[in-house]
Amino acid sequence: MADSPMTPFHEMAGKSPEEAKFFWSGGPVEVAPRTWFQSFLSGVTAFETDAGLVLVDSGLRQLGAKLAGMLRERTKAPVHSAIFTQGHIDHAFGLKDFLVPGQARPRIVAHRAMPERFRRYELTQRLNAAINARQFGGSVNRAETTDEFNNFRTPELAPDTLYEDRLVLSVGGLSFEVHHCRGETDDHSWIWCPERRVLCPGDLFIWGVPNAGNPQKVQRYPRDWALGLRQMAALEPRSLCPGHGGPVVDDAALIRRMLLETADYLDSLLQQTLAALNDSAPPHVDIVHRVQPPQTDSPWLQPVYDEAEFIVRNIIRYYGGWWSGRPSELKPAPRDGLAREVAALAGGAQALLTRAEALAQAGDLRLACHLADYALEAAPADKAVCNGVAALYERRAARETSLMARNIFRSAAAYARDGRAFA
Ligand SMILES: [Zn+2]
Repeated sequence: MADSPMTPFHEMAGKSPEEAKFFWSGGPVEVAPRTWFQSFLSGVTAFETDAGLVLVDSGLRQLGAKLAGMLRERTKAPVHSAIFTQGHIDHAFGLKDFLVPGQARPRIVAHRAMPERFRRYELTQRLNAAINARQFGGSVNRAETTDEFNNFRTPELAPDTLYEDRLVLSVGGLSFEVHHCRGETDDHSWIWCPERRVLCPGDLFIWGVPNAGNPQKVQRYPRDWALGLRQMAALEPRSLCPGHGGPVVDDAALIRRMLLETADYLDSLLQQTLAALNDSAPPHVDIVHRVQPPQTDSPWLQPVYDEAEFIVRNIIRYYGGWWSGRPSELKPAPRDGLAREVAALAGGAQALLTRAEALAQAGDLRLACHLADYALEAAPADKAVCNGVAALYERRAARETSLMARNIFRSAAAYARDGRAFA
């Protein structure tokens, strides 16, 4: 995941850091001898060896200096090697600030799919600016006036050592097992240091429902992800340094539970979705409503960032096509024409909005928002309709728990006030 450095992350999500470990920031925390973890938005782990530091991840470009400042309270050693767990902007772009003056360029290790990710970013800069603005609660206009979301390109310090399935690095008497695991991304790695029994899972563990469903992003891989978590648990790590949130230090039993429960959570969604798909391939929306998300009080499986419903959608996309399963949506009419027809039948856009407000009042915000969309698309120049629709989406945003749902609905409200439905 990636985020704006301009607003503290926990404030954007409406949570205090104490309420959800996902939003933890701090450090340096000594997670093992000569091994420190620090996090600000995303985590960086530093292993001091006799040959220099091995860094796992490097933070967002704009936050590299802050993270490096934390680490440099404890060690002045040069960076021997850096390993990027994935090519997202909050993991692979902050390395420059960790280097000490005069040091040689460090070796930079990543999965072989990472360079292609950077090429894709260069092809889709404005797309990424728009979808990240929505994901983090802004508008496209906001993204256009700042550069914070627009640094989607190959980082200045790019990986020079690429691997396929698994790589073992030996640095200064320590070994680092780098494992490929498709999860949040296709270029994802997790790292295990057996001598210090420290696990760096990257974003395969983030103190929240896994980011395996993100509505606006490319394919994620829950099945591989769950398998990877089980492999990690089998190693019996003593300390865990996650991609987001705080570390777990010297508590093997807790780490095992966290990893296995997260694997079970993903597997439950996977099995239920596959069962539904295999049951005559019903329309996607029917599958979404059929799958029951596992109920759990575990603090690492709360929907603070992503959520189960979106993971189900992602699983459907992996195994099936893009068609929703509704016949009219195979080759649909333009939406404004459809919306005008529906509004005319209902007695006008305002009548649709009035009914939407009644449904919202009765507690059915899902149904209310369908009618609200038609009202807005039928009458985008009607200020009363625009403001009414915006108010409905603001109300809906306030009821959501995941950052993604909340912020996309918040963006929908902002667009509606401008007489636009994400167009
Ligand atoms: Zn991340």
